[in-house]
Amino acid sequence: MPLQPRTSRSPFSRSPFSLLPLAFVAAACMATVASAADLSAADAERHAQATYREYFELLSLPNDAIAPEDVRKNVDWLEQAFRKRGFTTQQLPNDGKPMLYAEYQGADPSRKTVLFYMHLDGQPVVPAQWAQKSPWTPVLKRKAANGGWEEIDSAPLFSGPLDPEWRVFGRASADDKGPIMMMLAAIDALKAGGAQPAVNVKVILDSEEEKGSPSISKVMQAHRELLRSDAIVIHDGPMHATNRPTLVFGNRGAAKAALTVYGAKVPLHSGHYGNYAPNPAQRLANLLASMKNDEGRVTVAGYYDRVKIAEADRKIMAAVPDDEAALKRRLGIAKTDKVGANYQEAMQYPSLNVRGMAAASVGDKVANIVPDKAVAELDLRTTPDSDPAYLGQLIQTHIERQGYHLVKGEPSDEDRARYDKLASFSYQSEGGDAAGSQIDSPVGQWAYKALTGTFGTQPEPVRIRMMGGTVPTAEIVRVLPVPFAIIPLVNADNNQHAANENLRMGNYVSGVRTVYGLVTQPF
Ligand SMILES: [Zn+2]
Repeated sequence: MPLQPRTSRSPFSRSPFSLLPLAFVAAACMATVASAADLSAADAERHAQATYREYFELLSLPNDAIAPEDVRKNVDWLEQAFRKRGFTTQQLPNDGKPMLYAEYQGADPSRKTVLFYMHLDGQPVVPAQWAQKSPWTPVLKRKAANGGWEEIDSAPLFSGPLDPEWRVFGRASADDKGPIMMMLAAIDALKAGGAQPAVNVKVILDSEEEKGSPSISKVMQAHRELLRSDAIVIHDGPMHATNRPTLVFGNRGAAKAALTVYGAKVPLHSGHYGNYAPNPAQRLANLLASMKNDEGRVTVAGYYDRVKIAEADRKIMAAVPDDEAALKRRLGIAKTDKVGANYQEAMQYPSLNVRGMAAASVGDKVANIVPDKAVAELDLRTTPDSDPAYLGQLIQTHIERQGYHLVKGEPSDEDRARYDKLASFSYQSEGGDAAGSQIDSPVGQWAYKALTGTFGTQPEPVRIRMMGGTVPTAEIVRVLPVPFAIIPLVNADNNQHAANENLRMGNYVSGVRTVYGLVTQPF
């Protein structure tokens, strides 16, 4: 969906000055010191269009971080692109896959400093899955009558009128080269208008985000002084499905746990031993059932205790325009778990998810046996207050309270003789920690002002307190303990990480306006 029209805004918030009496203009100019400068949609489109050739050039550089020489080509290209716009740059060494640091000219110590994080690497590709010659040859497409996408000549993209519904297809078109180009175009607009940013602009481009940012903490730690800032803005990921301006203030982390319940030493004949030898599959089912009630709420003591949600945050979450009726239809479920009052609220709590279970066999290989053991693999989505160690220990205590004796690995004969209920349990962090920043932190307020100053308050920007999935925010913000906001700029249906990744060109233009609004909004 396109961004909502700005018709319902206050008539005084951004009236064209030329229509106003001079005295009012003077007053209005003074007033703008405290708010973001406005880049008109037409000007944003003009500056966006002027960067489309560069965008195509950048998209034609393969960027899977598995190939360091490819990463270096991207870094070199981007270094030039930032330098010619007046940034000083520095390649930050990272084992052959450098990251790029760029700082906009004219930094002023009286202004706050914002570090913008984006990433230059992309997901691997399987070229045969793409409906175009190569994922590294960007193409322009428009919606066809049959609802699919048809390739069209890209020449009109570079001059002449633009259609916001056009899309550019290519790897990293949206994730995350699009946002990098939007920032460059926003800086072009700033320079063309002879304006100064209202914040000091620093940029770091990660070269291994799609590999889970294994080195970002280390690289940032090695350049702490260089990167020192008052806030971090992350331009990555999709906007809300409505395509409204979106602010995200955190994400859950991920942990995993493995639980094995032991029965007899070997699988037993179910005729001779059914009713006699305890069945570990049944016991595992009972044990798991004791961890959650029928409404999907975790019943492990203390599991949700650390989550504290302010009333103001609950209101903000309830206002997120999720279409839950459509979501339930899409998922094919009649009722949702009752962890939160709505989808957003459900994501604020740690989860306990059975992601796999196994005991003996089913289907063709089923046999009439009492299994010797049963295994469950769990994943736990963590929150900033409830980390893997906290949640893992609570589950372990819960298992012990159900009468289980926990062993490391297979139980010994002595264990078997002594304890009726035997299990092993282990847990560890997996793929990233949770991160969270207050919605009303200084950066949250600053970003909100910039977005509403640019796009108005009707409708309001979507504010996501914490998204459910895990992205490497914690790795990025850990080194510089300052508040952050994730400000996604790309359409939600961009096929991120998959074949036929694309960027809606209307989002390119609105992204230029968003970045312009941020860098001209005093913090
Ligand atoms: Zn990304």
